[in-house]
Order: sequence, then structure tokens, then C-alpha cells
Amino acid sequence: MGNLSVSAAQAIVLQHAASLGVERVKLEESLGRVLAEDVRANRDQPPYDVSAMDGFALRSADLVSPPTPLNVIEDIKAGDKPTQTLSAGQCARIMTGAPVPVGADAVIRVEDTRELPDDRVEILRSVAVGNDIRRRGEGMRDGQVVLAAGSEITPGVIGVLATVKAAHVVVYRRPRVAILSTGNELEGLDEPIDPSKIPNSNSYALMAQVQALGIEPVLLGIARDDAQELAGFLKHGLEFDVLLVSGGSSVGVHDYVRPTLEALGVSMHFWRVEMRPGHPVAFGTSDTSLVFGLPGNPVSSMVCFEQFVLPALRRMMGSARLFRRTLKAKLAHPVRIYPRRTEFVRVVLSRDTTGEYLATSTGTQSSGALISMAQADGLLVVPATSSGIAEGEWATVQLLDGTAYQNEPGFEESL
Ligand code: AMP
Ligand code: MG
Repeated sequence: MGNLSVSAAQAIVLQHAASLGVERVKLEESLGRVLAEDVRANRDQPPYDVSAMDGFALRSADLVSPPTPLNVIEDIKAGDKPTQTLSAGQCARIMTGAPVPVGADAVIRVEDTRELPDDRVEILRSVAVGNDIRRRGEGMRDGQVVLAAGSEITPGVIGVLATVKAAHVVVYRRPRVAILSTGNELEGLDEPIDPSKIPNSNSYALMAQVQALGIEPVLLGIARDDAQELAGFLKHGLEFDVLLVSGGSSVGVHDYVRPTLEALGVSMHFWRVEMRPGHPVAFGTSDTSLVFGLPGNPVSSMVCFEQFVLPALRRMMGSARLFRRTLKAKLAHPVRIYPRRTEFVRVVLSRDTTGEYLATSTGTQSSGALISMAQADGLLVVPATSSGIAEGEWATVQLLDGTAYQNEPGFEESL
């Protein structure tokens, strides 16, 4: 296999990622999911003409030469039904959201009026027909599609769903995700400290990356570098829709992951990508699962999750927006590059004096330096073709947090 760019590898992954069918969930549990069906309004909203202001409903033709005194014949609050029809010289006191009475064609806000004795009010200026009236059906019309299939359920969408009384919604299923770490050197979170061992951080960082997408993964634990033990774990892992395997995917003699997966019927589509960190990243599929072989180095594991696993999981959940939000930032200092590989630099963002985003490296960019990943706001992308980026130059930064995603990766690269 030739040199594979990040975008070419993403394209291969996405070819194999498809939604997993639908399920019905309670509205209260639907945040972050993707609608699998169009949702229609079940009535006009507002259901009748309502006042947009606290003020007076009146006949605009009465206000030829303001100030004009009018008789207040009724008080209408939200939820009331008006009982009278307005005639010339009359108005009704009305509250925001209350129905406009028959005969009135405009509302004037209370600030443009002056109370008079004996249930009268002076209107201080004229208004056009329709002033401060929200028309029936202005917000939504009965039967109209208010949310299209494919919409992501945000707090605003939840509000619209509640407006149309959707107590349950049909959404795409979430993939079931399993996480396995491999390596004889690894020490579990619950094990006592052994100075010769390496704490298993990848299982937990990956767990959190998956959780941030609204999916609760299953941690399968640690498999030793032993072909038989590994086969047992991988077999279990292949019962899930997505299996993330940390470590053991490179070419060391004890890196059993790839051959063991192949022996279990997984076709490997790639096992190296021209990127840094994260070069030894592998991807394969069985009939029912996507398998990612993520590098053991803690930063590489997280960066590869960002580039490959995240878009795949989002597509499986029915989303069209697969990629992290990107923005353009100026570099606070030059960055060196590793030739012919797309490089992801951990950066923090601030604003310079002109209000532009400024990207500053979080320090050592070693792929084992997890603290510099923990401190990062984003990953600055240095394209494979770049010969380095100078101080003050613009570059693309992928944000590492947030629930807003975009349709395109947002960076260009070519080899
Ligand atoms: P590998 O990809 O298995 O060759 O591992 C590369 C490096 O990552 C080694 O230094 C490992 O000790 C480290 N490593 C592998 N797995 C983990 C893990 N689950 N948590 C933290 N570090 C790991
Ligand atoms: Mg290993």
C-alpha cells in the first residue's frame, strides 16, 4: 500500500460507516441524537392572532390625529378568550400572547399610551394595520415539516419537538462501542503501582472521547501481548459495532493485533497513515464491525480517534456533520514540520490585540506527552505539503471540544 494521506484514509473509513437503523426514544433522552424522520407541526402556532406586546388592541383607523382617547372595554390576559367585538372609539387592554379581539387590527404598546380616568386611555401615536400582532400560523403551520430527517437534536430542536408535542422521537441508533487496550507493560487503574509498568490511560481517554459523542462504551480491559489471549478479547470485541484497540498495531514482533484480527475474518483496509502523531493507525472491517487499531502512544491514540473514529461514529449516528469545527488562527511562533506527513500540533487559542485568534503550542509535541494534549484547545493542522509555518501566518485549527460540527474536514492536504 502506498502513502495514504489523512483525507484518503478518512474517505476509506467513511465508505464503511453507515447508520445502524432507528429506534424510538423519549424526548427527554433525545439530546444529541439525529432525527430519522421528518417532524410536522400538529397545529398552527400561534393558534390565533396574538399580541406581541403588553398594550392595547385597537382599530388603527381610529388614530388619524393622535393623541386620541379611546374607551377600554375589556382586559384580555394570555389564555383568555375575548368576549367583545371592538367598535369605533374602543380598545381592549391586552397582554403579550393574549388573543387579539375581533374588530381590532393592531396593537400599540403600553409605553405609547397614557392612562385616563373612567376606563379610558390616550393613544399617543398612530400605528399601521397589523402592528405588534403575531399572526396565526406565523411560527408554524399545521402539517408543515418543521424539522427534517437528519436534523441534530439540539436544545432548540427539543423546544420545537415539545411545541409539536412529540413525547417520543424516532432517531438513529447509537453504535455499540468496545475499547480494548493491549500490552504486557500496562497496569490497570485498580492495580497497585508497579514502577516497571505503564498506567493504562488510553482506555479511559478513549472512553471519554466516545462519551463526549453521547455514546457509553464498554471497556474490555487489558489484553497481554499473547496471540491466544488477544484472540479471545478481539473475538468478544467483534460482537460490537465498533471496536477500538489501543496498541500493538505497529510492526514490532509482539504486535499481534493485525494478524489476529485477520485470522478472525477482519479485512484490513490500511495500517499506516502519513500523519504525525499517529502514523501506525490501522482500520479494518468484519461483516458486522468496524475495527480501529489505534497507536499505543497516548497522544497518537487521541489524535487518531479525532481524525478517523469520530467522523465514523457521527456518520453511524446519522449525522451529516462529521468533522470538528475548524477556525483560522495566526501562529504565535514558527512550527517546524516533519516532511510529507500531515502534522497535528496541540495548541491553546487566545486573541491578539486585533481580535484575531492566536495559536500557541502547548509545549513538547512528543506523542507520549499527554499533559500537552490535556491542555490543548485544538489541533493545528500543518499540511503534508507545507515546508513549515512562520510566526504570524494563518493556519487551520480543529477545536477539540464542543458539540458543533461541520460538513468538511476544513483542511487541505495533498501528497
Ligand atoms: P504500542 O503501540 O503498543 O507499540 O505502544 C506504544 C507506546 O504506547 C508504548 O510506550 C506503550 O507503553 C504506550 N501505551 C500502549 N498502550 C497504552 C495504554 N493503553 N495507555 C497508555 N500508554 C500506552
Ligand atoms: Mg504494545
